Amino acid sequence: PQPDLILLDIMMPEMDGFETIKRLKSNENTANIPVIFVTGLQESHDEEKGLKLGAADYIRKPVREAIAISRINTHITIKKQRQRLEELALTDQLTGLYNRHYLLEVAEHKVASSKRHKQPLSLMMVDVDHFKQVNDNHGHPAGDQVLSDLGEFLRAQHRKEDLVAVRFGGEEFVILLENCNLEQATKRAEQIRADIETLHPAGLDISASIGVAELHSEENNFKSLLSRADKAVYKAKFDGRNCVRINDGM
Ligand code: GH3
Ligand code: MG
Ligand code: MG
Repeated sequence: PQPDLILLDIMMPEMDGFETIKRLKSNENTANIPVIFVTGLQESHDEEKGLKLGAADYIRKPVREAIAISRINTHITIKKQRQRLEELALTDQLTGLYNRHYLLEVAEHKVASSKRHKQPLSLMMVDVDHFKQVNDNHGHPAGDQVLSDLGEFLRAQHRKEDLVAVRFGGEEFVILLENCNLEQATKRAEQIRADIETLHPAGLDISASIGVAELHSEENNFKSLLSRADKAVYKAKFDGRNCVRINDGM
């Protein structure tokens, strides 16, 4: 667990507060923790320096407790609000999965990291079959329930496997599989397809078509990987739906 906030002295043995905050702010795991300097230094240029290095606030000693507590509470509130906004912006309300924004935000990073570590990266695109008919025959709320049940199923996958599931569009899901080659991803896709077939979300007979692609050694961007998986979905639809197709070309 991470601290909600850090109170930091400037004059300390071994490493001073300025160096400490520089290190905190340059590490992505700690960069978002608000730091308040609490210091005996009275010079304005020290305050200026602290704020420029990313401190949320600056409190001079002697500390007046009530003022310090108010400032601490303010910064904790701001931090929690920011976390909540981030959560809302990056997750999908209906399914509880990450959304398209999240995927596009992390995707290029995953592509770069897979290249750097020379590890495979694969992607599945899952498209519900004849979903429009579900809405037409059972109503939009039933359609929503199907998506929400599918979301729960995919979130459970997410917990037990090293994969990220995203609601990409209306009835389309993307699953990113790190350190997973085409053959392994295809096996996972076949399993997911079979599980969906017996899942009966909202009590209905539902199937999905899945397209799979692995990041190619000369492929440098996520969009191209995504579009190849999308083409494989088209092939699965064309071949009769409720099946997995791969795209192993460029
Ligand atoms: P295919 O097998 O070719 O994929 O057919 P399909 O009917 O699934 O494909 P199509 O793309 O024509 O239809 C998708 C439908 O999904 C259309 C839209 O009304 C519905 N849809 C999209 N988002 C939502 C949603 O959030 N809730 C519900 N209930 N329906 C949605
Ligand atoms: Mg679709
Ligand atoms: Mg569909």
